[in-house]
Amino acid sequence: MSSLLVDNIGELVTNGVGEGPLGIRRKAAVLIEEGRVAWVGPAAYAPAADRRIDAGGAAVLPGFVDSHAHLVFAGDRAAEFAARMAGERYTGGGIRTTVGATRAATDDELRATVRRLRGEALRQGTTTIEIKSGYGLSVADEARSLRIAAESSSETTFLGAHVVPPEYADRPDDYVGLVCGPMLAAAAPHAKWIDVFCERGAFDVDHARAILACGQAAGLGVRLHANQLGPGPGVRLGVELDAASVDHCTHLSDADIDALAGTAHSDGSGTRTVATLLPGAEFSTRSPYPDARRLLDAGVTVALATDCNPGSSYTSSMPFCIALAVREMRMTPAEALWAATAGGARALRRDDVGVLIPGARADLVVLDAPSYLHLAYRPGVPLIHQVIRNGVPQ
Ligand SMILES: [Zn+2]
Repeated sequence: MSSLLVDNIGELVTNGVGEGPLGIRRKAAVLIEEGRVAWVGPAAYAPAADRRIDAGGAAVLPGFVDSHAHLVFAGDRAAEFAARMAGERYTGGGIRTTVGATRAATDDELRATVRRLRGEALRQGTTTIEIKSGYGLSVADEARSLRIAAESSSETTFLGAHVVPPEYADRPDDYVGLVCGPMLAAAAPHAKWIDVFCERGAFDVDHARAILACGQAAGLGVRLHANQLGPGPGVRLGVELDAASVDHCTHLSDADIDALAGTAHSDGSGTRTVATLLPGAEFSTRSPYPDARRLLDAGVTVALATDCNPGSSYTSSMPFCIALAVREMRMTPAEALWAATAGGARALRRDDVGVLIPGARADLVVLDAPSYLHLAYRPGVPLIHQVIRNGVPQ
C-alpha cells in the first residue's frame, strides 16, 4: 500500500475539527492512503510515508466542489455576451442557440468539450463537479449528453426540462410528456439527479412538479433552477420535494427563506435543502446578486457553484466565484470558502468530499499563498499551485 504525506502545511482548512468555522490547523500535515485521508495532525508528529510533498508553509484546502455546471454543449455565445454588455437584457432565450449547435455536434466533439472544461476546472482546484445535460432536448441527444457526462463525473443531472425546444413551442404539455416518458427512461441509467429550469419562459410550477416527481419515481434525486430571473414558486417547490439544492435564489420572498430554514436538521448542522448561489451568472448577465446574508442569517446552508455554461456564465473558476461572493454578496471569506467546498458537498448530499478529515476522499488543493484569504484578496490571480485528486497528484 503506497502512502503520501502532504507535509509542512502552514494553514490547513479541514472543514472539520479545528479553529473557527473552517476547522483550521496550523503547521499541519495530511497522510493519504489508498485515495483517502488517513491522518491529519501536527507536522511535528507526522507519520512516515512512501512519498512526501512539501507544501512549503503554504495553505492547503479541500478541493472545490462545483455542484452546478452545464458542460455538454457545442459552440459558444460570445457575440450574445458582447450584445448584452452593450445593453441587451438576458432572457434565457439563447439556450435554443446552443441546442441547435449541440444536436449538430458529433459525440467526439461533445466529449472533447467536456474533457477540456473538466481539465480547466481541475487545474483551478475543482475536484468534484456536477455535470448537467439540457442542450440536447431530444431522447437521443439527452441520453448521449448524459452518457458523455458520466465519463467525467459520477454527479450527472438530467435537465431535459431546460427549455421547451422549438419543435414543441406550441405544445409544451406534449414536451412534458416526452420528458417524463421516453426521455427519462433513456436518461435515467446515466443520471443521478433530475433538474428543471422553473422560470417564466421555461417551465411553470405544475410542469416542474410533474417532471421532478417522475424523476424521483425513477430513483433520481431532485435539484432545480429556481428564482433566477424573478420571484416565483420554484424554491418552495424544491422544499416540498425534498430537493438537495435549489439553485440561483436571486429573487427570494420571506416565505421562500422560511421554507428553506424549515428544512434545518435537528442537530444544528444546517438545512437539508441547500441554497446554491451562482454569482458568475449575475456577473455575466449584469444582474443584481442574490442576498447571501439574508440566507445565512436565517440559518440556510449556502453553496457556491460556477453555473459554467456557454450563455450566462462561461467560467469554470471557483476562486472567481469566491471572490464575487465576498466582494459582491457580502459573504465573509470563510463563509465563501466553506460554501465552495463543504457547501457544494451538502448540495450533492455527499459527506466524503469538501472536507479533509480521516476517511474523506483525498482531494486537496495546495495554494501558492499562505492563507485561503488570498482567494478573495487576490482576485484573478492563479493561486492554485497543486491539485491532488483521489490521492493522486494531478
Ligand atoms: Zn444552470
